[in-house]
Amino acid sequence: MKNIFIILMTFSFNSCNSQTKNAEVKKEVTKQTQTKKDTMDFKIVKTDAEWKAQLTPEEYAVLREKGTERPYTGEYDKHFEKGMYVCAACENPLFTSDTKFDSHCGWPSFDEAIKGATIYHKDTSYGMIRTEVMCAKCGGHLGHVFDDGPKETTGQRYCTNSVSIKFLPAK
Ligand code: FE
Repeated sequence: MKNIFIILMTFSFNSCNSQTKNAEVKKEVTKQTQTKKDTMDFKIVKTDAEWKAQLTPEEYAVLREKGTERPYTGEYDKHFEKGMYVCAACENPLFTSDTKFDSHCGWPSFDEAIKGATIYHKDTSYGMIRTEVMCAKCGGHLGHVFDDGPKETTGQRYCTNSVSIKFLPAK
């Protein structure tokens, strides 16, 4: 019984811990990381003052200052209705509900982004190597992508902040 508990704890820890898959993430980073110049070349460019006026303080902290909402608190963590998730800052369509899955990590998770909707940036903050995911249109911070998603689909887990996205129900 004790062994099963340890195995379950290990599995649970691994599935949500961003450091355990560093080797795979590193590979992903090499493949996907763009240059600083590319990431600055967004269709929608606004000043900090303009973003502050448009966004709520929570949205600004995550989207523009790359913050992270507390796990298990986001509006879309356990949200599985049919529809589309767009960028909360610029309404760029980012994810469809078909790609959403319950990762049990406390944040909305998708196994795929809409093609061309997101860009990637190597994030070395907090002593980790992670792949940051941003909106390709406005540069808003969405979250990070890890290689521990569902094996039967893409194997990717787009770990996304609820405040960075907005749900539009299917008509
Ligand atoms: Fe955006």
